[in-house]
Amino acid sequence: MTITDRIRDIRTSLPESVTLVSVSKTHPAEAIREAYDGGQRIFGESRPQELKAKYEALPHDIEWHMIGHLQTNKVKYIAPFVALIHSVDSLRLLEVIDREAGKCGRTIDCLLEIHVAAEESKSGWEWSELLENVQHNAFSQFENVRVRGVMCIATNTDDEAVVRADFERLVRYRNQLAPHFGEEFDIISMGMSDDYPLAIECGSTMVRVGSKIFGNRTYL
Ligand SMILES: *Cc1c(COP(=O)(O)O)cnc(C)c1O
Repeated sequence: MTITDRIRDIRTSLPESVTLVSVSKTHPAEAIREAYDGGQRIFGESRPQELKAKYEALPHDIEWHMIGHLQTNKVKYIAPFVALIHSVDSLRLLEVIDREAGKCGRTIDCLLEIHVAAEESKSGWEWSELLENVQHNAFSQFENVRVRGVMCIATNTDDEAVVRADFERLVRYRNQLAPHFGEEFDIISMGMSDDYPLAIECGSTMVRVGSKIFGNRTYL
């Protein structure tokens, strides 16, 4: 099957309300071009410099999403064009995104990445810390960012019950946060190649699918 075939198959299996982010990290511009020619316009990357290089090499109607951990000193590479940053996990990072967005005369859409997985190492807000910040209106100080919703990476396990519990937890958190952020807080980014059907069952509105479209990666 070609990249185009695989995207078409995944698309037809998704409810209309679910957005497909095709995760192209590590794959060359030609692979993205093939997906683009097949009609795909939303791509996710996890390294800022790689994202910038691909932005420059490919058509500018592509919507680029930053899905990986983002260091504050790298925000400047992507601020001029990035459409959505999924991985905001600190106030400090949001501050920098706000400042860089302002310099570009843009408003940048962001998601709050929340730690729901069992693994220690996974990035994301600890819920208690996030809730405390929200209750102190820490997010109302930003003019050039728009907090659009939440994101998570579920526990890396074959145990479906564990993954489901992670997804359900994210949806509960999202519902608890929604009144603080208003109507634009409408994105739940969860689900990857191995678990996106389950994520959709649990309420995902945006899935991030990489290897199922582009094949295996040589690095994470
Ligand atoms: C790499 C990555 C994905 C895609 O993973 P696949 O298992 O290849 O679908 C999704 N989300 C994030 C945050 C990633 O880093």
